[in-house]
Amino acid sequence: MSSADKARVGLAADGPAPPEEEEGEGGGEAGGKEPAADAAPGPSAAFRFLVTRREPAVKLQYAVSGLEPLAWSEDHRVSVSTARSIAVLELICDVHNPGQDLVIHRTSVPAPLNSCLLKVGSKAEVAECKEKFATSKDPTVSQTFMLDRVFNPEGKALPPMRGFKYTSWSPMGCDANGRCLLAALTMDNRLTIQANLNRLQWVQLVDLTEIYGERLYETSYRLSKNEAPEGNLGDFAEFQRRHSMQTPVRMEWSGICTTQQVKHNNECRDVGSVLLAVLFENGDIAVWQFQLPFVGKESISSCNTIESGINSPSVLFWWEYEHNNRKMSGLIVGSAFGPVKILPVNLKAVKGYFTLRQPVVLWKEMDQLPVHSIKCVPLYHPYQKCSCSLVVAARGSYVFWCLLLISKAGLNVHNSHVTGLHSLPIVSMTADKQNGTVYTCSSDGKVRQLIPIFTDVALKFEHQLIKLSDVFGSVRTHGIAVSPCGAYLAVITTEGMVNGLHPVNKNYQVQFVTLKTFEEAAAQLLESSVQNLFKQVDLIDLVRWKILKDKHIPQFLQEALEKKIESSGATYFWRFKLFLLRILYQSMQKTPSEALWKPSHEDSKILLVDSPGMGNAEEEQEEGTSRQASRQGLQERSREGDPEDPIDDSLTPGDAGGREPMEEKLLEIQGKIEGVEMHLTREHMKRVLGEVYLHTWITENTSIPTRGLCNFLMSDEEYDDRTARVLIGHISKKMNKQTFPEHCSLCKEILPFTDRKQAVCSNGHIWLRCFLTYQSCQSLIYRRCLLHDSIARHPAPEDPDWIKRLLQSPCPFCDSPVF
Ligand SMILES: [Zn+2]
Ligand SMILES: [Zn+2]
Repeated sequence: MSSADKARVGLAADGPAPPEEEEGEGGGEAGGKEPAADAAPGPSAAFRFLVTRREPAVKLQYAVSGLEPLAWSEDHRVSVSTARSIAVLELICDVHNPGQDLVIHRTSVPAPLNSCLLKVGSKAEVAECKEKFATSKDPTVSQTFMLDRVFNPEGKALPPMRGFKYTSWSPMGCDANGRCLLAALTMDNRLTIQANLNRLQWVQLVDLTEIYGERLYETSYRLSKNEAPEGNLGDFAEFQRRHSMQTPVRMEWSGICTTQQVKHNNECRDVGSVLLAVLFENGDIAVWQFQLPFVGKESISSCNTIESGINSPSVLFWWEYEHNNRKMSGLIVGSAFGPVKILPVNLKAVKGYFTLRQPVVLWKEMDQLPVHSIKCVPLYHPYQKCSCSLVVAARGSYVFWCLLLISKAGLNVHNSHVTGLHSLPIVSMTADKQNGTVYTCSSDGKVRQLIPIFTDVALKFEHQLIKLSDVFGSVRTHGIAVSPCGAYLAVITTEGMVNGLHPVNKNYQVQFVTLKTFEEAAAQLLESSVQNLFKQVDLIDLVRWKILKDKHIPQFLQEALEKKIESSGATYFWRFKLFLLRILYQSMQKTPSEALWKPSHEDSKILLVDSPGMGNAEEEQEEGTSRQASRQGLQERSREGDPEDPIDDSLTPGDAGGREPMEEKLLEIQGKIEGVEMHLTREHMKRVLGEVYLHTWITENTSIPTRGLCNFLMSDEEYDDRTARVLIGHISKKMNKQTFPEHCSLCKEILPFTDRKQAVCSNGHIWLRCFLTYQSCQSLIYRRCLLHDSIARHPAPEDPDWIKRLLQSPCPFCDSPVF
């Protein structure tokens, strides 16, 4: 750490400004390169780990394209930029599927059909200038013009510019279903925001390149009034300037922030918003602010342009730092010449946010090592006892890192380089947001894992090699992405050299390897601060795999989970238990071939009928996915023979005479599943009743079947819950003798509340119950959770806010969004 530099820079905050010191803003004379790490012996044996391949490998139809072609979203979708489309692979931790393979649902975002022309002036004027430059007598003008793909996206004599340059996932909670949005940048510079709202198609919500171009046109290509008057488009330099100021290089989303909106009655309302920073070729950065949920053009609240003055900018990332409930943010920008700095971002509308007083230079040398990728991870420094930000940047074959700590004296910056990682330049870098572990990859199939180890003042990295050739054979690698909780690494591969010869064909594939053991995943789930199964799909998928293989839940996990349930009672642990039981049930399904051709979700069990609103195509596609996966699982099993199957003889299906114990076992698990589902239902019923109590007045009717819920909760004598009793007592007082029953919309008869899943009137009309509000869904259009284990009604305009909020809740059984 001797080489780490230190610098202090003042902060712009609301209080009195801390003293500023001018001792070189980070980066500096020491050169910052750590002693060659390759000279040092590898990490200790205890530190080694093995990666394991996960089936299936996903074949891509087209060659990958662009920079960092792989990205893994917080809601577990992997995007792959290719020459024709963005392939999106959604990882589903399917509790209804007995196959051991990953269950992957594929969709794709097609590239637009028309090429994108940046707006640099009126149509007539642009056509005239283009003609003039193409036929110019000056070869420096005509050749530069003809060969520039931004000016000539259609190509004519040149090959077409198709496919995608870069994609970026928003945080979870941004689209209308509370999931992630995808910002997509095409090779010909069209930046759009895409959403997948119906599980099938992606729709373009907005074309930001077009809107930005219009804005520039309206302001005569000047960012501020003080700027010199507009130049002449016929001037080649001006023609180039107008293109460069709107050619996106990359874009990144911020975290979700809260803004306050003043309503007509002067009441303030908190509104979620998110920022998208777009870095342009000339160094300008547009910061778009969107109101959430983002639905389209009308969700744009503002767009401000920052002039960074950075030459040849190559990459950007948000710096977000939280300290004593104060949030700081800025934009980290890297240049193809080497420097890295953080720029202040002033956002007046965003409450509780502060930014830097001035840019902070993290690396200032113009050493011609291009910054290829930047990541920033918030961490807690155990020795300095404060939160800090770890910034890592891939520069050539090195990793440059920076640790930022804020103390009373200002901002402390420590930085250095990690060398000896790769012999070829880094092509892709990804970071585990939970613990700051960084993965880098060069094109020769070598991945390095870098683990930050805190020292007294800053940190150092221990690193080790993951040779993908040990798992996949000889491969070339084009991109990597780590899953949100660090359980898996996705890798784009093509065939590598065999006997010194390059392969004839290139088959692009996305492959998956595990980065954690089952025990590590289980421990992380038990100690989770997130307490949401859906957000940890990668971890629970590892657990699923283990249980399907072993056909039992490991003792230590069962015991630890029971302890958690006893000590905390949090519904998260109950949902975790439900998940384990459901997988255990799947693992004991009779034979794979029987399970194979059955619909993967048993309608009788989850009481789902096909609704005309949902359409069948979707159903078929999803079935297709799981069927294919199971089939591969089957092949896998028959190839391997049976050696690893019979772990517990009494539980192995299909053995002579083993039938009955097996069926009993299944019934027993089913009984347990129902018990846990009932517990979770009651807990959610209590929550709903709590809301009813808070938000309704005695005489006001409520559309929630309140009396039915109360009676349902009290009907089981074995269920004795003090909170439930007290709550029901309070509600009964409020309701007095009123009952607020629901009525069947077909015959107007009363719908009794006897079943948590459905309501049947005296004339036999059957309606499903919404799992979020327990109202009967009297239309055939409803929403489902991702695993199809519950349904919910759509919010109606007349619903009060508190019911709308209840309807936004995730599935009470699996935490997945309902849509
Ligand atoms: Zn009826
Ligand atoms: Zn669910």
